[in-house]
Formats: sequence, C-alpha cells, structure tokens
Amino acid sequence: MKSTILLVEDESSIREMIAYTLSKSGFDVLQAETPTEAFSQIADHNPQLILMDWMLPDQSGIEIIRRLRRENYTKNIPIIMLTAKSEENDKVWGLEAGADDYITKPFSPKELIARIQSLLRRANTEVADKVIKAGNIILDPNNHKVTVDGRNVSLGPKEFKLLKFFLTHQNKVFSRNQLLDSIWGQNTYVEERTVDVHILRLRKSIKSESTNYIQTIRGAGYIFSA
Ligand code: CA
Repeated sequence: MKSTILLVEDESSIREMIAYTLSKSGFDVLQAETPTEAFSQIADHNPQLILMDWMLPDQSGIEIIRRLRRENYTKNIPIIMLTAKSEENDKVWGLEAGADDYITKPFSPKELIARIQSLLRRANTEVADKVIKAGNIILDPNNHKVTVDGRNVSLGPKEFKLLKFFLTHQNKVFSRNQLLDSIWGQNTYVEERTVDVHILRLRKSIKSESTNYIQTIRGAGYIFSA
C-alpha cells in the first residue's frame, strides 16, 4: 500500500520539487502552504508522515509540531523538519518540540527519500501492528480479527477502530467529542449521538459473560477497562 505524505512548505518552487520527488518514489503526496491547510489535510487524510518546513507564514513549523504532539490522534505521526538553517539550535528545538528527524536544505532527493523510508520503517515496527489483548478480548490489527472469550467477532470498520482505540487507551474517560475526533477525524460533521450508536453496537458485539468492558460515565463519556 502507498504511504501518504503531507508536505507543508510555503515556497511553491520547493514544494513542487519535493512533491515531484515523492510521487516519483511511489508516495501519495498531500500539499499544504499554510498551517491552517496543514491541519485540515491532517484531519481529512490522516497522513503516515509529515514533512514540515521550518519557516511558514502565521506560525512556525515548531508551533505546529507542538500542537500535533498534544493531540491524541496526531501525536504519533512521524515528522521530518525541513530547515534552511544549519544552526544547531534550530535542530535541537525542532527535535525537542517533537520532530523525529530533520533535513537541511538544500538536500538531495535521494537523501530525503532515504530518511523518509527509514522513519516509516521505524514507525511501522513501533506500532508494529501488535496483537492487543485485554481481558478476554484479542484484537489482531493485521487481519482485522477480533475474538472475545475465544469466539470470533465480526465488527464494522468504525466499531473496529473504536475497539482498537479503547484497547490502546484503557482506563481513561473519553468524551463523545474526543471519540469523534479520534475515530471519525476532526473535520467531519458527525453528531455526538452517532458515537452512542456505534458504542452500542460495539458493546453488543464484544459482550462477555464475565466483563462489561465499556462503561458509560454520566455527563463525561465512556471508559474502557478490562
Ligand atoms: Ca518556508
């Protein structure tokens, strides 16, 4: 499957050059000129990696990275900073803010692609599509298989995402709104009630004799615990 890369760069000549390099190397490329565009691309398309220019209008790349690292649904997206400056300080700031790597302009296309591939490889093994277990639930992200008390359970795509989210964020209360952002994405206009519908379906599917996995916290949202 092709990886999608978001390229955030305000200088069109550089952006076009990099976009060309990326698509020639087999990536799907999203482009953003401004921080606002970047955030809406991220919310809509959930890219696998972000190339972030250091100097942008309105907001510096660093501020964007800080913001991305604060949000649950974006905090694990690998980010490579593109910097025109070679000062050591800028690199340190970038890495401290949460960038995973940086590359100094001008760079060779070959070097850029190598950095991207190594970071994607690292990210893939980290989230390693590991099998997740909680209580009597086993979720295998590789083949979308879920078993509860040893029986196979078939889930719709949203229920699967919800369950995976809960399994990786156990014992924490999430509001309907937070669940909407994490599962449906930020730019979707879905009513909060929709969350309840999918939670209900998920509850039915993973119903277990021994445990009530998803609890409603009145006025706050939902919590998963095994
Ligand atoms: Ca720039």
